[in-house]
Amino acid sequence: MCGISGAVGLNDISQALYEGIRNLEYRGYDSCGVALVNSKGLVLKKNIGGVEEFYRKENVLRHKSRIGIAHTRWATHGKVTRENTHPLSSSDGAFAVVHNGIISNYRFLREKLAREGFHFKSETDTEVIPHFLEYFYKKSKNVEAALAKTVEALEGSFALAFITSHQPDQIYCAKRESPLMLGISDEIKYLGSDFNAFIDHTKNAIIIDDGEYAVISRDSYTVKSLVTGQEIDKPIQKIEWDSESSKKGGYPHYMLKEIHEQPQTVNHALEIPASLTDDIVDLIVESDQTYLVGVGTTYYVAQFGQYIISNLAEEFLPAISADEFVALAKIDKGSMVLALSQSGETYDTLTALKYAKSKGAKTAAIVNVMGSSISRLVDKVVFQGSGPEICVISTKAALSQIVLLTVIGLKLALRKKLIGKKEFQKQIDQLKELPEIIHAVLNERSGFIHRIAHQYYKVKHWLYLGRGVYYPVALESALKMKEVAYVHAEGMPAGFLKHGTLAMIDQDIYSIVFVPPREDKELYQATLHSIEEIRARSGFVLGIHFDERGKNKDLFSEELILPPVSPLIAPLLQLVIAQLFAYFTATSLKRDVDKPRSLAKSVTVG
Ligand code: GLU
Repeated sequence: MCGISGAVGLNDISQALYEGIRNLEYRGYDSCGVALVNSKGLVLKKNIGGVEEFYRKENVLRHKSRIGIAHTRWATHGKVTRENTHPLSSSDGAFAVVHNGIISNYRFLREKLAREGFHFKSETDTEVIPHFLEYFYKKSKNVEAALAKTVEALEGSFALAFITSHQPDQIYCAKRESPLMLGISDEIKYLGSDFNAFIDHTKNAIIIDDGEYAVISRDSYTVKSLVTGQEIDKPIQKIEWDSESSKKGGYPHYMLKEIHEQPQTVNHALEIPASLTDDIVDLIVESDQTYLVGVGTTYYVAQFGQYIISNLAEEFLPAISADEFVALAKIDKGSMVLALSQSGETYDTLTALKYAKSKGAKTAAIVNVMGSSISRLVDKVVFQGSGPEICVISTKAALSQIVLLTVIGLKLALRKKLIGKKEFQKQIDQLKELPEIIHAVLNERSGFIHRIAHQYYKVKHWLYLGRGVYYPVALESALKMKEVAYVHAEGMPAGFLKHGTLAMIDQDIYSIVFVPPREDKELYQATLHSIEEIRARSGFVLGIHFDERGKNKDLFSEELILPPVSPLIAPLLQLVIAQLFAYFTATSLKRDVDKPRSLAKSVTVG
């Protein structure tokens, strides 16, 4: 995910372009660049860092131009370096391109272009685009024909835009899967990944659809089919949102938007090159002892990993909270530490990793931010590619990490010959079903969860209970409730209840119990026993389960029924439901959802 903005007008557009790209920074923010046109031709400015920092350092606004494109990057292919920052230019410098998405056949295309004598300056997938434009332009001497030919060669997803010294008054753009739209005003024509690129200037938008391209100049715009070249009559749409709500894509809060983005982020996690998770499996196999380390939500993710890897691969990898790591872990050259961090800057996790390194241990990490301190420190890193998570509370980044740990568990099981290739593929296929199921459940159950949350939002104490792998689900779900709603919630193994906590159960204590699917026979039965214990003492139980309606009806005070799914993905689906329950409780309590009090997105202090 990244941001693309463009503007072309009668007078200088530099300020409008700046505002446009700054408004898109939430889509990606590791590096930024612009391409403008002056009397000598194309001017490219780019560097790593956020939009404001880049504009200030490079003094970009001193360059006046009537046309320009800008990009804020969320690197997917190639490190966060100046060379990899967009715009990327053709060998002859006549084309400057910005791109959002992934060109999946880029390796093949790079080789093809290299054979034609093209030299690559970056490690990105994107750079094939400007070279192809140059290549096809030389043949046809027609920019639009070169664009159509180039797009024909590309596989994957993209929104792309470019300017060229061959037609210096026009911006060209095209798309497949990634969003792209035009903003139409009298003085300036705009281009953006979404409305935020121009919403402060015009509310008239044209949405570009897959298979279309557009050419915009200061007083005209045309949209055409990439296949036939025919002009397409596109209606102008009025944007109803204000600038702030549009960044949230119409959702009232980033938290809700990010909960809804989970189908996408799970897909991204499953598309990560196999070699990256293979490297982690290698390290685990080579090491005498591997620790899983995180803090806050990522500690619960680590605990999830501990259960899932123990279940799937019969390997016990202790999960340790990063702040306790030095006090607890026994580290030597034979150890390996696999750390989890959304920001890649978490102080406690960084400290744990530095300590492990100082003892000669191997280190690896799953992080969401490229170029972050943790990603640079460890021996092996997996970038989960979840896109920016703006809400301080982690939802989509945590779920992606859980998915990746599940993949690692399955690969380890395969390596240890505990499962065969067929079984491995079957389980991976089950994971692949998760995005669609989350999508459907969010669509179908949100209203009901909202109602339940609103009904019980005054509850002061919640117990979150689960057994086995559902225990970390309970822990993480309780943390969500504490963080976003400021309501006391305690996660506990359901079997632990009778060893003390049961004494406090009465009609005023509310529990949420994560019930496994019935196929998980022992866990299922044991969880039902815990519920009986609570009900026998008049405690309230909200059961999140997969049984058909009416089955075990008397067991629950309230039930949230999910569609039947495989035991592998059942706890992940329940986690999504619990995120939503915490969210709606918080909105009923009128909490500051995206910026809960006393919290910060990346805790860089000890
Ligand atoms: N795949 C491109 C890159 O890594 C674009 C990433 C983006 O969408 O920001 O440079």
